[in-house]
Parts: sequence; structure tokens; C-alpha cells
Amino acid sequence: MIRINCPYCHATLSPAELEQADIQGQFGLLCPDCGSVLVREVPMPESHGIEAHYPEMPFHHAR
Ligand SMILES: [Zn+2]
Repeated sequence: MIRINCPYCHATLSPAELEQADIQGQFGLLCPDCGSVLVREVPMPESHGIEAHYPEMPFHHAR
């Protein structure tokens, strides 16, 4: 199980606890405690998203 440590409020979170958000048209994950953006998908020409960084996370690309 991957644990993510928020660098802003130092909360230890599981990926399922992160809030999904649309930030200026980009998919991102927010800390539910302080609302800081922890993960942000950078648009790339190839299909290389945040799954590459968290391969065990079940991502839902619902827009
Ligand atoms: Zn936080």
C-alpha cells in the first residue's frame, strides 16, 4: 500500500483519500486536509501520465 505524505500539512494519506480535482483542465490530486495540490498530470504528447509514478494506484480517467 502506497502512503503519500503531504509536504504542506504532513498528513499521511492513502491514495484513495486524495481528492480528485480538475485544475485548469488538468487532472490533479489534492490533499483533503489542506487542499494543496500533491499530484498534477502534465500533458505530454505520449500517453505518459501519473500512472507511471504510481503504477499500483487504480486511476479513473473520468472527466
Ligand atoms: Zn496537506
